[in-house]
Amino acid sequence: MTFKDLGLSQPVLQALDLKGYDVPTPIQAQAIPPVLEGRDLLGIAQTGTGKTAAFMLPSIDRLRDADNRIPFKSCRMLVLAPTRELAVQIAASAKDYGALAGLKVQVIVGGTSVNKDRNKLHRGTDILVATPGRLLDLIDQNAFNLSGVEVLVLDEADQMLDLGFIHALRKIRDLVPKDRQTLFFSATMPKQIKELVSGYCRNPVQVSVTPESSTAERIDQYLFMVQQDEKQSLLELILSGRHKVPGERDRVLIFTRTKHGADRVVKKLSRAGIAANAIHGNKSQGQRQRALDEFRSGRTAILVATDVAARGIDIPGVSHVINYELPNVPEQYVHRIGRTARAGRDGVAIAFCAEDERAYLKDIRRTTDADFERLALPDNFRAVVEGVGPTKPAPRGATRVSQKKVRPKPAGGARREERAQGEEQRAKPKQKHPARKGRPNRSGPRQGQGQGGGNRRRRGGGGRRASSQGS
Ligand code: AMP
Repeated sequence: MTFKDLGLSQPVLQALDLKGYDVPTPIQAQAIPPVLEGRDLLGIAQTGTGKTAAFMLPSIDRLRDADNRIPFKSCRMLVLAPTRELAVQIAASAKDYGALAGLKVQVIVGGTSVNKDRNKLHRGTDILVATPGRLLDLIDQNAFNLSGVEVLVLDEADQMLDLGFIHALRKIRDLVPKDRQTLFFSATMPKQIKELVSGYCRNPVQVSVTPESSTAERIDQYLFMVQQDEKQSLLELILSGRHKVPGERDRVLIFTRTKHGADRVVKKLSRAGIAANAIHGNKSQGQRQRALDEFRSGRTAILVATDVAARGIDIPGVSHVINYELPNVPEQYVHRIGRTARAGRDGVAIAFCAEDERAYLKDIRRTTDADFERLALPDNFRAVVEGVGPTKPAPRGATRVSQKKVRPKPAGGARREERAQGEEQRAKPKQKHPARKGRPNRSGPRQGQGQGGGNRRRRGGGGRRASSQGS
């Protein structure tokens, strides 16, 4: 199947040629024909599947065909995205795909000058990509309205809910014309999303490229059981190549739960002579963009990120995702590891799980069907952690770090902190999972430690892959 078979116009086909896309991805093959017909769409897909082109290409053609004028202080196509980075990325794709279609594309995100946004939207635009909070700010100021919207896209709707945008989304739904076309995308389908879909879409065609809440198919998933106070040492050993992990290394994306955690990891890596950048909500938009650009170009091939900041970012060369701290919301795990294995490549996801994160691990396993291969910690690892030296064994009776020092922040607190990183906080955030109590660290023998530990499992040299029921 080719893009031409899908019924796309010549200018769009030419733009795809320039991008070097030959074959439509499964979501593109399924979504483009019904969207061209004007049908509403419900797409269950993660980023990395090519969903941006799936909604953008046919919409560009429909906008061209309708040939309506750009509405004053409004837009013809509105794309809502949860984060600044994703919005900027979608707008860049829209410009690429529509390069020869002559459509005007604008992007507005929080954390930038509202006045500039007001000015640039005064004359309206064909395509607007926006984060919900900034969009409502402009609407509240009568600087923008949604009366001209012909096509509405909600991208990563589950993430928008996680960021507390539910009220914003309900408000926007009431402001867009009834006869618009709606294209709704979400990686997961919890109950609240289903309710939102029924409020937004009319008899949508449903396309799904990953089963509900399943993890990406081409990602080998590994697990280290490791204490909190050992994680940094383990990370440094892996990043310096002194402890080998599966997969050929390109760019490494490391996730922490909190922005302070991300800064701490970067600082310690730098002390160990390993260059890395952090990206999170406390950084300015310029700093975030710079860190992403350096990561993209490979100049600084290690990026430490929080969930919110890294959401939806598309960097093809991410070979490894390291979950330095496990997410306390299992769906987040799907999003994190989806940063690797992009554009048809394989990827490796490595989870660091401390005793008091076992409940999160259990949730992830239950929700995503993830099947982890357990990896052994380096030899004499405890000695390295305690600075006794990489080769010497730990002294007899060496005591473990006290429980108080190693206990991570309670889940609720971390979640709150993450939410605060969202670029807008208009709507009341929801607590997806109640705070869980961390379990105390046990000082018994460590599972999987040492070479060939009894629990070590191997399967064909690869990690445990998630079930691959998607099309
Ligand atoms: P997305 O899921 O929209 O974030 O896209 C993931 C990545 O796949 C992006 O880098 C796109 O440029 C790329 N991509 C999308 N569609 C195709 C295609 N048909 N062929 C090759 N690459 C694609």
